[in-house]
Amino acid sequence: MNPMMFDLKSKVAIVTGGNGGIGLGMARGLARAGATVVVAARDAGKSSEAVRELRTLGSDAFAVEVDVSDEASVAAMVATTVERYGRLDILINNAGMSIRKPVQELALDEWHKVIDTNMTSAFLGARAAYPHMKKAGAGKVINIGSMLSIFGASFAPAYGASKGGVVQLTKSLAVGWAPDNIQVNAVLPGWIDTALTQDARKQLEGLHERVVTRTPAGKWGQPDDLAGVAVFLSSAASDFITGVAIAVDGGYSSAI
Ligand code: NDP
Repeated sequence: MNPMMFDLKSKVAIVTGGNGGIGLGMARGLARAGATVVVAARDAGKSSEAVRELRTLGSDAFAVEVDVSDEASVAAMVATTVERYGRLDILINNAGMSIRKPVQELALDEWHKVIDTNMTSAFLGARAAYPHMKKAGAGKVINIGSMLSIFGASFAPAYGASKGGVVQLTKSLAVGWAPDNIQVNAVLPGWIDTALTQDARKQLEGLHERVVTRTPAGKWGQPDDLAGVAVFLSSAASDFITGVAIAVDGGYSSAI
């Protein structure tokens, strides 16, 4: 095997939500593989800390403030990246959130907030990135789904709908852009220990124990467990892989 297959030197990547949790875990992987990483999120303080860390790994990292649910803000994120580095090779649509309520208690604006942040954001990001990738003759888009792309949960109707939609959007983009040599894939993380799931553990009694018992690996994943798949799907090693959803879940989705 050619080790250069995984080399991301000279590649420029945007990671939305790259300032913490899974996004930062993936950003670390890309940085170690040589990529320039643009950390795109709302909290500028958290983003500069992430950038400092990524620079220690050798990446020419940079932070851009973005609200991924806002069309103009997403367009500006891509424009700023291309102005600064002259290219955009990799887009990871990772930013996300949840509002944990049963559907009968969920307000319409809460529904929209979750759908816009988790799913419409992937459409907006990919659409803004497309002309630059097409012009370059290559590109990689990675959309972050969830176990709730596959399974239902009473406490997450909008989240589940958004994450199911992300997988179907991934397939349409993959089919549409394969002739442009742009690969579009989804990653479905299992239960990963981040701020998002620390909140969930506070709200959902017994969640910690259920995750440990139900996950064949017998533990929560860590953000750095997502680094390898991010490098693989960003690199030449995955050039003939498009439209798939890869679970990174310690066996969760394979077990009954
Ligand atoms: P975190 O809460 O740790 O991180 C969420 C990230 O998204 C933050 O960096 C946050 O940055 C950013 N973000 C949220 N809303 C916006 C917005 N409107 N605009 C820009 N950035 C935003 O969560 P995780 O790391 O756990 O989650 C990352 C992704 O992985 C999400 O899509 C989540 O659904 C998915 N996922 C997580 C799982 C888990 O077990 N943790 C399991 C399956 C999927 P800031 O606040 O600075 O904007």
